[in-house]
Amino acid sequence: MAEKRETRQKKEIEEIISKTNNLFTSEEIYSKIKSKGVGIATVYRFLKEMEKNREIHSFVCDRKKLYSKKEITHSHFVCESCGTRKHIILDKIDFLKKYIDEDLCHVQIELSGVCESCKKKE
Ligand SMILES: [Zn+2]
Ligand SMILES: [Zn+2]
Ligand SMILES: [Zn+2]
Repeated sequence: MAEKRETRQKKEIEEIISKTNNLFTSEEIYSKIKSKGVGIATVYRFLKEMEKNREIHSFVCDRKKLYSKKEITHSHFVCESCGTRKHIILDKIDFLKKYIDEDLCHVQIELSGVCESCKKKE
């Protein structure tokens, strides 16, 4: 009956994901589902599977893995002097297509430089 339990757990996770914000972490999902007896390993495995099926996308934000249901870009500007991280919305990513032959799915660009307040200090 292990399979049945697995199917039920998947359904529970799916439902929680459908109710969360567009961006979420595995820990967030786990904290909402642990009361139902679903383990963190199951959550990880399920998210991995969804990612493989391209139902969700993943980004790295502040050393944490961030999942997204819809958004396909998650980019940062990081100040080299103070480490401040700013999120950048890239709404036009089509120009990237000319650099690759592969099908483009999601995009994460990390830009580095000097932020406004560090510029003033200089
Ligand atoms: Zn993707
Ligand atoms: Zn981020
Ligand atoms: Zn700075």
